[in-house]
Amino acid sequence: MFSAIRPRLASVVAKPAVLNAVRPRLYMEEKFFSQAAVARSNIASLHTLTEDEALLKESVARFAQEQVLPKVQKMDETEKLDADVLKGLFEQGLMGIETDTKYDGSESSFMSAILTIEELAKVDPSISVICDVQNTLVNTLFRKYASDDIKERYLPRLATDTVGCFCLSEAGSGSDAFALQTRAVKDGDNYILNGTKMWITNSGEAEIFLVFANVAPEKGYKGITCFVVDKSMGVKVNKKESKLGIRASSTCTLNFDDIVVPAGNILGEVGKGYKYAIEILNEGRIGIAAQMLGLAQGAFDATLPYLFQRKQFGQNIGSFQGMQHQYAQVAMEIEAARLLTYNAARLKEQGKPFVKEAAMAKLYASQVAEKTASRCIEWAGGIGFTRDYPIEKFYRDCKIGAIYEGTSNIQLQTIAKILEKQYSS
Ligand SMILES: Cc1cc2nc3c(=O)[nH]c(=O)nc-3n(C[C@H](O)[C@H](O)[C@H](O)COP(=O)(O)OP(=O)(O)OC[C@H]3O[C@@H](n4cnc5c(N)ncnc54)[C@H](O)[C@@H]3O)c2cc1C
Repeated sequence: MFSAIRPRLASVVAKPAVLNAVRPRLYMEEKFFSQAAVARSNIASLHTLTEDEALLKESVARFAQEQVLPKVQKMDETEKLDADVLKGLFEQGLMGIETDTKYDGSESSFMSAILTIEELAKVDPSISVICDVQNTLVNTLFRKYASDDIKERYLPRLATDTVGCFCLSEAGSGSDAFALQTRAVKDGDNYILNGTKMWITNSGEAEIFLVFANVAPEKGYKGITCFVVDKSMGVKVNKKESKLGIRASSTCTLNFDDIVVPAGNILGEVGKGYKYAIEILNEGRIGIAAQMLGLAQGAFDATLPYLFQRKQFGQNIGSFQGMQHQYAQVAMEIEAARLLTYNAARLKEQGKPFVKEAAMAKLYASQVAEKTASRCIEWAGGIGFTRDYPIEKFYRDCKIGAIYEGTSNIQLQTIAKILEKQYSS
């Protein structure tokens, strides 16, 4: 077997003809060597950022430190988003990152959204998910599928001062999302919407609701349609959940009782809602991966300095080999989560298949977040267990990564289905 492979290896290693063909180009075309050319090629390190991305990352980190950090503990205790933090997200252009400038957005890249979500999560995963849902779910649905009329009416508001939310889940339909019971019945130029949505992120602050309802239950999931609903149409925001973590992010139950929605407010095509939801959640998962990655890094950064201040047995606790091996291992896993997340983001940006990679990134990053936050508490000893330090909050916040936008089992199922297709054909 090996002897059969060896000649192939040899021909791969020694390719003088190919190299000779490339060499003259290397010298002739100065551009071939330029940073931009390397960045444009597909062989750059996954840490390679464009100038815009690097600047954005830096400014989001500053915003998070200066304007979010001082409010984190109070927002967590009171389970309430600080109005100035929300205002700041809009003022910084972080609520319309990929939205075209003609709709008042920042017209930046998907990777920029991912970096923003990661940076915010280092300081507060609640603020991160508010920004994540607005960008990767709500704005993206509008940008990808809405008519020009709907885009003109809604995208500028979403980029400048109005929160939106993505309303798919119901009491009886979570993982089995398309078993949803919300109905929309045609009535002349309108649809009459009836149903109850549950677990809706941002719904406490939202004015714009993207609601998935079935217009033709006899067609099963092919009747699912996405409606753009204004709060002023009569949306009732009911029970706000009191949660283990991400407590500054509102999660409410919504009632739609005989809401009259103009047919002109259907997003995309009738009966295509299931397809839009799948596609949006596939890429949205990269956002949750970024949230979990940021959370892990935030917990790690908040804890490691302590290991080199705290002394036991006459030395820094961080210098015990038993500790060194643990934090080295966790640092490696955070780096692996980052590479999975950035890789999925770059694949998506380049229009390449990314669904398996996105599911892997979300699943793995949520596992790493949980392990990191847990270890950080242990490394800090008793004080890690108190509310005087931020570590226990990261531990509470991390659990949601295994639940929303597809539970961990659902990610495994997605990965397995793609593998089965690949290996059984
Ligand atoms: C804080 C928070 C915010 C949320 N935000 C939103 C939002 O903005 N919009 C929205 O629409 N929804 C939102 N959700 C809902 C979220 O997406 C669902 O909770 C999630 O999809 C899981 O559904 P479920 O809670 O009904 O659990 P279930 O689907 O009942 O799952 C329970 C358990 O069964 C397992 N399970 C289910 N089916 C299978 C299967 N086929 N194979 C193996 N295991 C399975 C799951 O993995 C899980 O462990 C949010 C939820 C929370 C908690």
